[in-house]
Amino acid sequence: MAQPRILILGAPGAGKGTQSAKITEEFGVDHITTGDALRSNKEMDISDMDTEYDTPGEYMDQGELVPDDVVNAIVDEALSQADGFVLDGYPRNLEQAEELKDMTDLDVVLYLDVGEEELVHRLTGRRLDPETGDIYHVEYNPPEDPEVEDRLEQRDDDTEETVRERLSVFHENTEPVIEYYDEQGDLERIDGEQAPDAVWDEVKATIEDTA
Ligand code: AMP
Repeated sequence: MAQPRILILGAPGAGKGTQSAKITEEFGVDHITTGDALRSNKEMDISDMDTEYDTPGEYMDQGELVPDDVVNAIVDEALSQADGFVLDGYPRNLEQAEELKDMTDLDVVLYLDVGEEELVHRLTGRRLDPETGDIYHVEYNPPEDPEVEDRLEQRDDDTEETVRERLSVFHENTEPVIEYYDEQGDLERIDGEQAPDAVWDEVKATIEDTA
C-alpha cells in the first residue's frame, strides 16, 4: 500500500491528537496539525494579511479561528513536503475544505464522534507536561509521579469559557465540513467515546480496509 493520505475530523477534545500519534507510528506517515503549528507561531506577525488581530495567539486565546490565509499557507507547505500524512485540525470551515480539495486527494476521512458534555469534561480536565509533551487528565489519566503532577500545565484555551467558545465555533463552522464529506460518501464515522484502545482498533482497521 502506498503511504495513505488520511484526514481526521472531530470536535476539540475528540481524541484527534491521540489517534493521530498512533497513526503516525503505525503507518509511517507525517502528522500535520494546524493547532501545534499555530501554537509554535503564536507571536507571528500577520498584520500585513489585513487581519483583525496582529498574531495567531490572539485568535487562539479567545477560541476563535485563525484567518484562512494563514492556516491554508501552513497546510499547503506541510503537504508539499509529505508523502503520506494524517491531517488533524484542518479543514475547520467549508472554505478550507475547498482549498484542501485543490491541494491533495484523500484516501480516508475519519470522523471521531463524541458528545458535547464529554468533550467539555475532557478538555477542561486536560493537562500537559511541559517537559515531555505528554498529555494527562486530572480524573481519567492522572500522572503517578507527584513531581510530574506538580509541573502540569493547562493549555491557555482549555478553560471552561474558551472551551465553550471553541465548541460553538465547531458547531457553526466545522459541522458543515463533516456534512460535506458525508454527502460525498467519504466519511468513516467512529464512536470516539469508547476507551482510547478500542477507538484505535477501529481507526486502524478502517484505514487498512479503506486506504
Ligand atoms: P487545536 O489544537 O486543533 O484545538 O487548535 C487550537 C486553536 O488553533 C483553535 O482554537 C484555533 O484558534 C486555531 N486553529 C487550529 N487549526 C485551525 C484551522 N484549521 N483554522 C483556523 N484556526 C485554527
